[in-house]
Amino acid sequence: MPSLFQQIQAGTVWDFHGGIHPPTRKQQTNQKPVAVMPLPDRLYIPLRQHIGVAGQLLVKAGDMVLKGQPLTLADNSMAVPVHAPTSGTVLAITPHTGAHPSALPELTLVLAPDGKEQWREREPLTLVSCDNMTLLNRIQESGIAGMGGAGFPTHLKTGVNQPVDYLIINAVECEPYITADDLLMQEAATTIVKGIDILCQLLNPKAVLIGIEDDKPIAAAAMMAACSQREHYYVRTVPTKYPSGGEKQLIQLLTNKEVPNGRRPVDIGIVMQNVGTAFAIAQAVLDDHPLLSRIVTVAGDTLNQPQNVLALIGTPVSSLLDFCGFQSEPKQRVIMGGPMMGFTLADLSVPVVKTTNCILAPTAEELPAASNEMDCIRCSSCADACPASLLPQQLLWYSKAKDSEKLAEYNLADCIECGACAYVCPSEIPLVQYYRVAKAELREQQREALKAEQAKARFEARNARLEREKQERAERNQQLAAARQQQQLASGANNAVADALARIKAKQAQASADTTSVATETANAAIQSNADKAAILAERERKKQQAREYQQQKAAALAPEQSTAAELSDAAKQSAATATGANQTATSSNSISADNSNNTADNKAAAVAAAIARARAKKAAAATPSAAAPTHTANEATTATGATSETDGSADPRKAAVAAALARAKAKKAAEAVPNATASAEVLTEADNGADPRKAAIAAAIARAKAKKQADSENS
Ligand code: SF4
Ligand code: SF4
Repeated sequence: MPSLFQQIQAGTVWDFHGGIHPPTRKQQTNQKPVAVMPLPDRLYIPLRQHIGVAGQLLVKAGDMVLKGQPLTLADNSMAVPVHAPTSGTVLAITPHTGAHPSALPELTLVLAPDGKEQWREREPLTLVSCDNMTLLNRIQESGIAGMGGAGFPTHLKTGVNQPVDYLIINAVECEPYITADDLLMQEAATTIVKGIDILCQLLNPKAVLIGIEDDKPIAAAAMMAACSQREHYYVRTVPTKYPSGGEKQLIQLLTNKEVPNGRRPVDIGIVMQNVGTAFAIAQAVLDDHPLLSRIVTVAGDTLNQPQNVLALIGTPVSSLLDFCGFQSEPKQRVIMGGPMMGFTLADLSVPVVKTTNCILAPTAEELPAASNEMDCIRCSSCADACPASLLPQQLLWYSKAKDSEKLAEYNLADCIECGACAYVCPSEIPLVQYYRVAKAELREQQREALKAEQAKARFEARNARLEREKQERAERNQQLAAARQQQQLASGANNAVADALARIKAKQAQASADTTSVATETANAAIQSNADKAAILAERERKKQQAREYQQQKAAALAPEQSTAAELSDAAKQSAATATGANQTATSSNSISADNSNNTADNKAAAVAAAIARARAKKAAAATPSAAAPTHTANEATTATGATSETDGSADPRKAAVAAALARAKAKKAAEAVPNATASAEVLTEADNGADPRKAAIAAAIARAKAKKQADSENS
């Protein structure tokens, strides 16, 4: 069995389900050449003439524009610009009745042609020097959209990335009356093939299939001639059957392939372009001629000269009709498009746009208006005629019920609005009109659903973002808290260490200070102690020194008086002896006299002995209070000689000494005045010393005896 491509090469043509065979009525125009219409007084150029969005406006009212000058800028992929069809002045940019079944106003640029047809500067391209991107940009910048009626941007349809097996050029033009493509192929087949060459460079298909209905033999011949030098270009004639020009129907006719529901032809390796689009691409690339005009079939029995007219974009329908000898009738209908898929115009000022291929002005007899609608009789004729294998009667029911789910379930989207069902309906139900309304409602619902979905997505994204930001803030706060805690811990540890060190240092310092203080105190104490001790010692030494000095002074004071003292002692002995007996007095006097004259050397020893005797006497007096009685006489004697009771041993020694010295001085003075002064002085001396007079006398006697003995020994 030959492969599909082999079958295609062999010229095999397949069939599709349904379809009808209405009268073509193409003879009105297919035998006449394309007429060039003179410039109209006004051009109404809608800013959006395709499926997509309008470009950014580049001019304003009052501007002078050149032919081919862009009026809008394609600033995104879905935008297609429009151009000035001729040179002239922009009068206004205002809403105007659109070329749409709704007749809603669309923003339209009103241009007053100046008749000069002054072109802007043009930059033709060659295929050799162009890459695909340059070609696609040129196609978009030239404002080319599908000229078969859909109006989809051509640069998007030809800029696909999927591999393409077949490029199909739709030249079927199956709708009655319309012969625009037929005439275009008859007159410009070579240019059309150049446009197909550009498409092949962009799409690189395995084969090019040019489909033409078999009722256009001249056009088919012209295309075959133009394609004779292209090996993989195949011109195929298909049986005249409506709607063979439908995209899916023509694909099935030429390749026996069906486009799945909801998919595009490119998904099965097929791209389809209208023959008029190929012509426009060739003009745009090779001549830098943007889409400024198109061929429009102006037909109907109300026209004196039905024909194909090359009309500028923006030409009012009224101007076209006038150019063709329009003779209006009562309740005249003027249809934009064919009798099957066109729509009745509410206003003849509606302009020709890029997708306009036919203006039909039929008589009432030629194309009767729809009569009163009747109920569906469920004859299923519509289903038999539907080329999309739909159930038009079910779609009608659900369209009236506005049951969008059922409409989707019955594939309303696959309806190509061919009108075949309505054409065959015995109840004259305008089925296509119901479907269009239902589609519009579905599109609105889908837009609302899309908006809701987008709003939901934005809401969820916002919530997710807020939640994420909340979590991020929480994480950041946790991290910051952890960092702060770590810093605090580190700082606290450092502080603790520092505090500990400080405490240790303080403690050490305190200890040192205490130690120092203690040491200082100790030292001070020691110093104080030493000082005290030294002071005490010094005091002691001073007192000792004072004592020694006193002793020395006393000794010095006593030394010159030693002899006198001895004499006073002898006198005292004599006095005592006198008091006790005359013999003893005489002996004492003799003895004293002998001592004074014979032995003065023994005075010191005698003084010492006398002092010792006095000390003993004083000690004895202190130890024995009763001893005071014996001294009463001495005291009285002392009182008689001027001495005071302060000479008593309990008084101050210095005073006592002074008193004693005074007493001795007085005694010496008295001794000098009285012969027994010696005895008195002896008495006073003994009394002054406080000793026992008897013992003193004995001691004095012993001393004298020793002194005498000493003197005797020395004399001998
Ligand atoms: S052709 Fe008309 S009457 Fe017959 S089933 Fe279809 S809608 Fe009903
Ligand atoms: S208009 Fe739709 S439903 Fe009717 S025949 Fe054509 S494709 Fe089928």
